[in-house]
Amino acid sequence: MFDGFVRFAPRCDDCGLDYSAFNVGDGPAAFLTLIIGTIIVVLAVWLELAAEPPFWLHIVLWVPLTTLLVFGGLRIAKGWLLIAEYKRGAREHGGRDPGARPSDSDRVDGSK
Ligand SMILES: [Zn+2]
Repeated sequence: MFDGFVRFAPRCDDCGLDYSAFNVGDGPAAFLTLIIGTIIVVLAVWLELAAEPPFWLHIVLWVPLTTLLVFGGLRIAKGWLLIAEYKRGAREHGGRDPGARPSDSDRVDGSK
């Protein structure tokens, strides 16, 4: 499903479904930023109050953990959202059925 770490492949290796017909947009990234940000801040505050560790420990702990959660979560969230769009037949404005490739004439709103 993915071509690179968080970018979709042009189409499915198994059935040839055109992934470019779907646009999951920035929704997954926005949700992840809020959710993961909240989790990390709560954990960091809790650790500081419970153990008062040196500042470098916060850096060593939270920076890699945040990076891991954001990128790992982004794959899951984007994949999940594409599946949700596929199941509901959701298309970009003016789109057609899931198997069809959108042509430029479908893009009446001028979006990407
Ligand atoms: Zn497939």
